[in-house]
Amino acid sequence: MGLVCGTGFILRTRDFAESDLIVTWFTDRWGKRRVIAKQARRLGSRLGGVFDLLNQVEVVFYEKPQLDLVSKGSLLAGFPRMKRDLTAVTAALNTGRLLDRLLPLHHREERVYILFSLFLDLLEEGQIPTEQLHLATALKLLAMLGHRPRLDGCTRCGTQSGGFFFVPAAGGVLCSTCSRSRGAPITRGLALALHAVSSRPLARAGVIRFSPEEMERACKVVDGYIDHLIRGP
Ligand SMILES: [Zn+2]
Repeated sequence: MGLVCGTGFILRTRDFAESDLIVTWFTDRWGKRRVIAKQARRLGSRLGGVFDLLNQVEVVFYEKPQLDLVSKGSLLAGFPRMKRDLTAVTAALNTGRLLDRLLPLHHREERVYILFSLFLDLLEEGQIPTEQLHLATALKLLAMLGHRPRLDGCTRCGTQSGGFFFVPAAGGVLCSTCSRSRGAPITRGLALALHAVSSRPLARAGVIRFSPEEMERACKVVDGYIDHLIRGP
């Protein structure tokens, strides 16, 4: 275990002792890790502002089994435009929280890293409507982390016709017979549109159009599923 240098995004920070900071970050090479930055909260610290949430940073650290020790840290990208936009920064923070809760420690997740990095870049560019980008990112991340919801047919009997109900505990949609009045109603068209969004490149997330009502319903369904995964049944 020696001194190594890594790049990653800040997912969570916690004050520790007099002036230290414990930082959870998502690195390109080692997945999610925790580091302690000694005296980072002291006035005039050279680490001041480096570990703000969502920043992309480069850190030199001593690798330890539980809590790495920061030697040096510098800011690579702070996403200033995104952080001035409340909707965009909320979407990014929610996605960061999802990663913090679902990623295991010290497990490299290269595809997830690339997707999260692209998501923040696209939010910073501001070309794709935020809600649509957030929804597409959440669906793609869930799939990469082994929780892809089934949306193209009933999870239990496979039927593709009739109205559906999204049942988080079933891991996707159920037909009206299998759902037995459980779950959130969702039209077949909306379920298929979400299925399509989850399989397209993220940069094309804005191509499929949703009405405001469909977007509200879709966010409710996906947020409910994420809550179920994070909190358990
Ligand atoms: Zn069924």
